[in-house]
Amino acid sequence: MIVTRFAPSPTGYLHIGGLRTALYNYLYARANGGKFLLRIEDTDLKRNSKEAAEAIVQAFNWCGLEYDGEIVYQSSRFDLYKEYVAKLLESGKAYKCYMSKEELDALRAEQEARKERPKYDGRYRDFTGTPPSGIEPVVRIKAPTSGVIEFEDGVKGKVSFNANDILDDFIIARSDGTPTYNFTVVIDDALMGVTDIIRGDDHLSNTPKQIILYEALGFKIPKFYHVAMINGSDGAKLSKRHGATDVMEYKRMGYLSEALLNFLVRLGWSHGDDEIFSINDMKRLFDPNHLSKSSSTFNQTKLEWLNAHYIKTANSERIFDELSELGLNLRNHPKKELLIGQYRERSKTLVEMRDSINSLLNEPQSYDEKAYNKFINENSLQILAEFSEILKPNLTAKDYEEATMSFLESKGAKLKDLAQAVRVAVTGTSVSPSIFEVIEILGSECVKERISKLLAYAKQ
Ligand code: GLU
Repeated sequence: MIVTRFAPSPTGYLHIGGLRTALYNYLYARANGGKFLLRIEDTDLKRNSKEAAEAIVQAFNWCGLEYDGEIVYQSSRFDLYKEYVAKLLESGKAYKCYMSKEELDALRAEQEARKERPKYDGRYRDFTGTPPSGIEPVVRIKAPTSGVIEFEDGVKGKVSFNANDILDDFIIARSDGTPTYNFTVVIDDALMGVTDIIRGDDHLSNTPKQIILYEALGFKIPKFYHVAMINGSDGAKLSKRHGATDVMEYKRMGYLSEALLNFLVRLGWSHGDDEIFSINDMKRLFDPNHLSKSSSTFNQTKLEWLNAHYIKTANSERIFDELSELGLNLRNHPKKELLIGQYRERSKTLVEMRDSINSLLNEPQSYDEKAYNKFINENSLQILAEFSEILKPNLTAKDYEEATMSFLESKGAKLKDLAQAVRVAVTGTSVSPSIFEVIEILGSECVKERISKLLAYAKQ
């Protein structure tokens, strides 16, 4: 059975790149009837917080990424890590190193002077003497000193590291007894039965160290997939300066989670030339063998395009829920279906939709100067005044259209002469859906009132 996991370090909000990693792992498990586990890597008690862990879970809930079983918190597993450190010490695969900070600094300085890469020199590797007093030792793994560490990466193909170049006897437990990152990851992935690890290629250099630990501990090595990073439009690694990187910020900006997931799945994965993937499509089709080797670019326009698509196709209840979370409750509006029917076609985000609907439902506080100057003049004011007279209550958009057309015919006027002036009167701007729908939505009384306000304003 395929078992995948997402293993974030809770240092802040869930980053958009983290969500993509989580999504890939989730989809791979779901596409194969496997399990997707969530592990919070919160061993760094200074940098990690409970709030950050909660923020991750909240973002998961928003996106509907369900994990299997309970969340595993590394902070509750220190005893377990100690047990495995002890096992490695006992079997001689790890050892205590009593090097003081001063000694380590001196070694570094010498190596730097010789222009060598700073590297632990193994001085306690085979130490059998009496340990120096007053020093709490760190525990180091006995890493191979020669040969290559090789693995078949699911994205990058064969990856090999020269042991001598990259490795030293790295620390698995600090002098205060706390385990290090590479150690806890291996223990947990192995004990949680993780078979496949999809993660960012910023972790690639950790992988040989982890493989050494798998071997030392006698655990089965999982399959790794290192996916290329997401870049901003300028080619630099995606960061705040390219726009929002907090997943929940996208909710606040009016994105539907399915649009964000669809967008993210395509940043580094493809299925032919397809662009639109519902979550069910993704669960069915995702195959990590089609993860891309090259980095992908975060394209805001494409995200907006996808969001517009999902806004167009979402069911109405969903839209009402989302809008009400954004502070616009349309549930009791008599024309709510017509209202969102008009705006779902023209909104890139739900925030844009909310703001446009608000600007229709609320009386304009001012008139846009450009629109006013362009469309309001003696002639249009005259037509508006007369048009106001023919508006009868409780008709449909179609009825208003017919009545308007015969009114215009009798006046020898054109629809465009009237429509823009009505828009200015009703919304204060020159943009709104078709005026007939607008009249049905707002009701003729409301439209008449707004026209008379504009007429009064024009007289001043
Ligand atoms: N905790 C690590 C991080 O947040 C991820 C570990 C892993 O995926 O192996 O970067």
